[in-house]
Amino acid sequence: MAKATYHVCTLPGDGIGPEIMAEGKKVLAAVGEKADVDFVCEDHLIGGSAIDACGSPLPDATLDAAKASDAVLLASVGGPKWDSTDPKAPRPEQGLLGIRKGLGLYTNLRPVKIYDALAGASTLRPEVIKGVDLVIVRELTGGLYFGRRERFYDEEGAGANGGRGQRAYDTMEYREYEVERIARKAFEAARKRRNKVTSVDKRNVLETSRLWREVVHRVHDEEFPEVELEDLLVDNTAMQLINRPADFDVIVTENTFGDILSDEAAQITGSLGMLASASLGDGVSLFEPSAGSAPDIAGKGIANPLAQILSAGMMLTYAFDMTEEAGWVESAVERVLDDGWRTRDIADDATPADHVLGTAAMGDKVVEYL
Ligand code: NAD
Repeated sequence: MAKATYHVCTLPGDGIGPEIMAEGKKVLAAVGEKADVDFVCEDHLIGGSAIDACGSPLPDATLDAAKASDAVLLASVGGPKWDSTDPKAPRPEQGLLGIRKGLGLYTNLRPVKIYDALAGASTLRPEVIKGVDLVIVRELTGGLYFGRRERFYDEEGAGANGGRGQRAYDTMEYREYEVERIARKAFEAARKRRNKVTSVDKRNVLETSRLWREVVHRVHDEEFPEVELEDLLVDNTAMQLINRPADFDVIVTENTFGDILSDEAAQITGSLGMLASASLGDGVSLFEPSAGSAPDIAGKGIANPLAQILSAGMMLTYAFDMTEEAGWVESAVERVLDDGWRTRDIADDATPADHVLGTAAMGDKVVEYL
């Protein structure tokens, strides 16, 4: 039988992106060798580096390559260099939003799991975080981040406010089918896990939330009656995530709430550098670390590549149906941590200096344990 070949569109992006991407590719190549599969990675531009090279955070060539690939592996975009107060200036994050929209990726899956070896890195007490294993399912292509928006000068406002009359608005909008399909992804994920979904909204204030809750319940009652479903207001969820994080299995929510809650949940583990994510739609999927481009440590060779490596692992599961090989990656990472190997961000006072690894050395270590 011919050797299987998968074409991966790799997008290193900005900041620590290229450094951690190199380690993701390294591990992928090692898995390919062991599994006798070819992963053909092809780099393309996105974010700030794409703005510098051709004026656009998402060049057409990048989106075309992503669409033609079997999966997309992204690192991170953004940095102070491209922060501008000019609302018309291109922004790196537009590349991220654009590729999610372009590939029709309406679901973001962010697993949050406590590794025993890293339990001490959390700011929460050990008995609170024991057993945390949840996934946040966030709607990705609707809501506030894609709604109508405007910034303008308002004569009336100027009068009332002593001459400063700028005004701006953003709108949050959801269509029934958008809620329906994300609810379905959440219930499907729950079926593979502990069979429980917490749907998060702000029903007491927002009309979009009232629609959200109605539709989630309809999908549940009609298609997934055996899955346990609870509703929680977003403000309460923010508290409960810290209070009783181990009680959650699948949390499903709209774009903005999900953005904030997934970062909060990420912090439960103690390190942003550990969290992988998958973005799924009905075609090509995209895999990336949850954290940003960490401009404060870019170029220093100390970034934690494990989230990038675990994202490559999620790609094996969700894009290539290589669950066993994904297990190799997860197990290698777990054993590396169990044996005390750390990058600086997850090291503590008890970590011997010779066990604190740089980005490339950590990638090598995972390959060694594979
Ligand atoms: P960030 O996630 O980049 O960094 C937050 C903190 O976590 C920093 O102290 C950083 O050093 C640390 N950190 C993050 N990843 C790490 C890793 N792999 N190893 C070790 N430490 C790590 O968030 P920020 O500072 O708010 O944003 C920086 C830039 O990233 C901004 O331009 C922002 O817009 C962008 N951003 C991009 C994405 C993305 O590409 N998906 C997500 C969030 C933020």
